[in-house]
Amino acid sequence: MIFEGLAEKLQNTFAKLKGKGKLSEKDVKDAMREVKLALLEADVNFKVVKDFVNKVKERAVGQEVMESLTPGQHVIKIVNEELTDLMGSVQSKISFSSKPPTIIMLVGLQGAGKTTTGGKLGGLFKKQGKRPLLVACDVYRPAAIKQLQVVGEKLDIPVFSMGDKENPVNIAKAGISHAVKNNNDLVIIDTAGRLHIDEGLMDELKNIKSEVKPHEILLVVDSMTGQDAVNVAQSFNEALGIDGVVLTKLDGDTRGGAALSVRAVTNKPIKFIGMGEKLDDLEPFYPDRIASRILG
Ligand code: GDP
Repeated sequence: MIFEGLAEKLQNTFAKLKGKGKLSEKDVKDAMREVKLALLEADVNFKVVKDFVNKVKERAVGQEVMESLTPGQHVIKIVNEELTDLMGSVQSKISFSSKPPTIIMLVGLQGAGKTTTGGKLGGLFKKQGKRPLLVACDVYRPAAIKQLQVVGEKLDIPVFSMGDKENPVNIAKAGISHAVKNNNDLVIIDTAGRLHIDEGLMDELKNIKSEVKPHEILLVVDSMTGQDAVNVAQSFNEALGIDGVVLTKLDGDTRGGAALSVRAVTNKPIKFIGMGEKLDDLEPFYPDRIASRILG
């Protein structure tokens, strides 16, 4: 389970605080040292941890908290609020265009879960009454187009493709025209990934972006890669500009460092989380629920 180690450690730390009745400044500082270690072990970005612990300390080492009747509870409440804040406070939704179709462009490295996520997003919004179209712009990975078609068939969502000989910019533009003609109010563009970030990839994505003007560019990153995922998010944001992140494979991530760092490092919210390989294993990301899950 995600945050397994972190949750256990934080809950132990706070159980000690709660058992104390009155708190001294030293009690709070000791607890914060444990929180810091637990966050670092969960692979949270170092600077994010430092800022977080300082903020909590500043709020917790005050008269109001120390002299309250339940200072331990008070500190936990502060940690809960700051954890929620760290992840963006509120759920960050997709903004749908008032003039359909809304265009979502999915980007990310190969294997992050882009194609699967495209299908999952289509499925999620179809359930909410949208009429999505998936557009296959990954012309490099041999099986990508077929994979998207299989996903589309399973979900009964149409897939637009022009094979692997056409330029991705043209495919994206033709896909949008197709959507307009066929009354699809949501277009999800699956783009090519590479093993690493390179200029060729970024140039292609920038071309698609400037020609297609998507309403949302969502970066798909693999939660299990921890701080690498955060670095990837930072690089994509700097080079291309992203609107949000889909964090995949959270079901296999026991640490959760990416989930806790992405927003603070990139200033872009996590919008969805992938919780498994099945096509309905996608959930909106709720910072407050995650914080409460960690603190038990
Ligand atoms: P792409 O190269 O970015 O398009 O990645 P794919 O969509 O092909 O996904 C790569 C692998 O990750 C596939 O085996 C997916 O089933 C798997 N995958 C994607 N999202 C998740 C997730 O949220 N949880 C788990 N456990 N596996 C996932």
